[in-house]
Amino acid sequence: MEDNEEVAEEYLFKVVLIGDSAVGKSNLLSRFARNEFDSNSKATIGVEFQTQAVEIDGKEVKAQIWDTAGQERFRAVTSAYYRGAVGALIVYDISRRTTFDSIKRWLEELSLHCDTTVARMLVGNKCDLENIREVSVEDGKSLAEAEGLFFMETSALDSTNVQTAFEIVIREIYNNISRKVL
Ligand code: GDP
Ligand code: MG
Repeated sequence: MEDNEEVAEEYLFKVVLIGDSAVGKSNLLSRFARNEFDSNSKATIGVEFQTQAVEIDGKEVKAQIWDTAGQERFRAVTSAYYRGAVGALIVYDISRRTTFDSIKRWLEELSLHCDTTVARMLVGNKCDLENIREVSVEDGKSLAEAEGLFFMETSALDSTNVQTAFEIVIREIYNNISRKVL
């Protein structure tokens, strides 16, 4: 290739949302992609994704973010769901301890389908529900440290940290690609 030849670079990264039913995965995605929140959202069956562009270092980077759309209720997230994913947000609900206890299982499942370079963010959603909190910030942080994950508490309801959580994952993927570890 000639030195002066421009390389048209376009990035499209697959990112998956995982975590127990009703932790807020679909609402995190709708908040991020459409700035919408749905208090009556019902889990629908089938896989859905949304493509969202973010700017990183002056480049447009597109993330194709996949939502389980309810299949996790049957503990049957398919391998097709994970295939090709280079990033994951692993979500629990800070007001339901059981959803935090499930994180280890989600991490195991992720590691079965994706290689170790997948960018992973532990997300404690519903941080607006402080008055009924069952998982402390410290518990979230220490699990993330032990497992080598990014960590953030979010609220899809009031928008806290939603944009930031997705952007950190997308930036990490972009950095991984730049370092050619993917
Ligand atoms: P999913 O099953 O993980 O996709 O969860 P949903 O996005 O369908 O949300 C499940 C329920 O939690 C819905 O009733 C949402 O309105 C509610 N929810 C989602 N995110 C939040 C949040 O950040 N705060 C609060 N208070 N409720 C939320
Ligand atoms: Mg959902």
